[in-house]
Amino acid sequence: MAGKVGSAEAATAEANVAKKAAAAKKVIGLQTYSLGKELFEDVPGGLKKLKAMGYTTLELAGYNDGKIGSIDMMEFKKMANDAGLIILSSHVNPPVREYTKSNLEQIKDYWKKTAEDHAKLGVKYLVQPGLPSTRSEEETKFVCEVFNEAGKIVKEHGFPFGYHNHNMEFARVVPGGKEAVPPFGWKKEGTAIYDLFLQNTDPSLVIFEMDVYWAVMGQADPVEYLKKNPTRIKLLHIKDRAVLGQSGMMNFEAIFKQFYANGYKDYFVELEGINSGTQFEGVKGCCDYLLKAPFVK
Ligand code: MG
Repeated sequence: MAGKVGSAEAATAEANVAKKAAAAKKVIGLQTYSLGKELFEDVPGGLKKLKAMGYTTLELAGYNDGKIGSIDMMEFKKMANDAGLIILSSHVNPPVREYTKSNLEQIKDYWKKTAEDHAKLGVKYLVQPGLPSTRSEEETKFVCEVFNEAGKIVKEHGFPFGYHNHNMEFARVVPGGKEAVPPFGWKKEGTAIYDLFLQNTDPSLVIFEMDVYWAVMGQADPVEYLKKNPTRIKLLHIKDRAVLGQSGMMNFEAIFKQFYANGYKDYFVELEGINSGTQFEGVKGCCDYLLKAPFVK
């Protein structure tokens, strides 16, 4: 009897060791926007805290003319590396939201400088998170042309240009339209802006980082998008209403399963609203959720 209990205990202990070892190998990314101002109170200390939680990679936010917030970007990189974190990606937005033929050169100049800076940083991806103005199918197609131009410039520096969505990319537009129709009502005429982006950007120049929470908020199913576009969505934002897993509205297991089946693995946790506590505490809650989740490799 005693022997039996002993072996059951040993088996449990062994299983716990195996679980810990699997968790230790997980690559978990964080979009630094999640920390808001709290990060800039003590960047080196904050980055070390992230590493201790279990994060391994970062996607930056707040790039402006060679700086991340008020910190020189190369200095930021050193702080990240000293903490044991790798910067994989960065969110950047051109200075204009309205794309026209007359400001195309301005947008291209922005991408040249921004791609050059990020080549020094050594990123794997460079991602635009902000939706340009689009009121009609024609305007949306012009935005795609601009994305392709950005993609060409960025690709010359050795990494792809990516686009990150919120919910309004699932609004619909029609040819000659005057306004995009939000995705929340019954009116379903026209084509979702996101679908036009997928159809009208060059796969060799533009990749997609799907924010799965914002897709759901746009009444779209991220798993369906991953299935239908197995080679276009190469990055994910893993986000929930607040701390991951708490709302019960996100099927992260199905999302990860399909993403891995497509052959990709890079993702970033994003936290915006929190129910209580600090952003750091919320970000830790997200990491704990992923460390424990058996479906996260
Ligand atoms: Mg996001």
